[in-house]
Amino acid sequence: MASADRSDAAYPPAVDDAETDQLVLAIKDWSITNGLAVRPPPAVVSTTQAELASTLAMPVPVTLFPSPFPRSCFAEAQGVQQAYNELYAKISQDESFLSRVVAEVAGGDDFTTRLWAVHERVKAEGYVHKHSLGIFRSDYLVHQETTEAGSSHLQIKQVEFNTIAASFGGLSGQTSGLHKFLAKTAYPLLQDSSKADAAATSAYSLPDNTSGKDIAAGLQAAYEVYNRSETSHNDLPRCIVFLVQDGERNVFDQRHIEYAIDAPVFRVPFSQLLKETSIDASSPRRRLLYRAAFEVAVVYMRAGYGPSDYPDESAWDARYQIERSSAIKCPTVLTQVAGTKKVQQVLATPSEATVSELGRFVADAERQAALRRTFANIYPLDTMSPAGRQAREWAQDPTACRKFVLKPQREGGGNNYYKDKIPTHLQTVPVEHWSSYILMELITPPPVANLILRNGHVERGGVICELGIYGTCIWRNGDETSSGSRILRNEAAGYLLRTKGDQSEEGGVAAGFGCMDSVNLV
Ligand code: ADP
Ligand code: MG
Ligand code: MG
Repeated sequence: MASADRSDAAYPPAVDDAETDQLVLAIKDWSITNGLAVRPPPAVVSTTQAELASTLAMPVPVTLFPSPFPRSCFAEAQGVQQAYNELYAKISQDESFLSRVVAEVAGGDDFTTRLWAVHERVKAEGYVHKHSLGIFRSDYLVHQETTEAGSSHLQIKQVEFNTIAASFGGLSGQTSGLHKFLAKTAYPLLQDSSKADAAATSAYSLPDNTSGKDIAAGLQAAYEVYNRSETSHNDLPRCIVFLVQDGERNVFDQRHIEYAIDAPVFRVPFSQLLKETSIDASSPRRRLLYRAAFEVAVVYMRAGYGPSDYPDESAWDARYQIERSSAIKCPTVLTQVAGTKKVQQVLATPSEATVSELGRFVADAERQAALRRTFANIYPLDTMSPAGRQAREWAQDPTACRKFVLKPQREGGGNNYYKDKIPTHLQTVPVEHWSSYILMELITPPPVANLILRNGHVERGGVICELGIYGTCIWRNGDETSSGSRILRNEAAGYLLRTKGDQSEEGGVAAGFGCMDSVNLV
């Protein structure tokens, strides 16, 4: 971050060195005591005795103060979450729509193609699962809109919608807890008398955030739905499996969710799945068994979202084993594909058809408008549509490209190309594969200042805050003929505020350039 002149920043309160030290000490202790922590990176671990290394935890990078966030924008993001949950539950059930989307990106995207092949294989033998669980997170930046009359207003714009392994729900509730604690204790003691209001407890409007518990409640509900709807073929107790990555550093985020569930939960590394689980051969309903001792009711994937989780054929066999089982999957292949940037683009791009793609899924005009207000401009890079041909021109133009970010169909951060890197990157991609990308207008939020504590050091300066709203949703699959709503559960599930220095283009906390934050509503 650029170093900012403290005197011109009304927020956060100016703090001297002694006060900074006090705050840092309070944050470090609170973080470890409350599991606002990650495992240290390999560099730290390798300098430590092996037996000690596996027990280490360190505080997550976090802002010293909750960042100011427009109240109306926060309310809007929360207000639209259930509409988003329902939209993505519906998209997940529209196989022909998703197959068209996959066909458009398939040429340049082996990963999505392979993923789809898993779905096709299970479809050919027949799916046996009855319900699906979505644990979603819709991410936004605040956009300052100026009308033609010259007035401006703040509007959330969606960055992306995550349908697989949406992380930090466990830690974000804790981050809200940390800032609430500081607002009661440390902030009122700050000497910044010129900003006495800012340092007073009353200056902080910190909404409750129980994201970890709310996500756990979604998993718990899915577990109960399975227990109610699947008659027993065996005497085995039932469990939930968290499918995780090997060497996961963000383990405490997941543990917060695990420990809030009232059912047996087991963590299985993706690479061990075929060893630790099997399909019960005696059951026609393809029960998934864990160590032949539990029947798996729900598989919650915190792995499997990107190519690096599939280093060999056995990883694809593992994914197939989950997909064909009767366990409730979070997510299925269909739901994972529903979360691609291509789907987001197809919903956002205005169409010439009388009924837009969004309109096919959301009949209610008001709901449709509420969703559309949160869309940024996103374009395909195809050659068939006028929007696609226009986007191809912009993407190659050294001036026009500065307004955009180019995204492939990938998750987990670090995959996008920004501004002038767009034309350079596209030159390395065969033109027939450009349609596996989407082109999105950059959202530029109003400037905010804060201090970030990372690895014991405090960084100061301009920051960009990305809001995520979690949602949990359970729906019934198949049986087209049954009447009534197929949605059994549809809840908003707390929020995440992730903050990065304003010089950084990507903001993933795990990727190392972001930090945890909470909202101070203004
Ligand atoms: P991923 O699925 O890898 O997280 P995202 O679409 O969320 O991909 O992009 C990663 C990051 O890039 C976001 O967290 C955000 O910081 C930045 N970003 C993405 N799209 C935009 C945009 N339209 N405007 C500004 N920043 C963006
Ligand atoms: Mg994502
Ligand atoms: Mg993202």
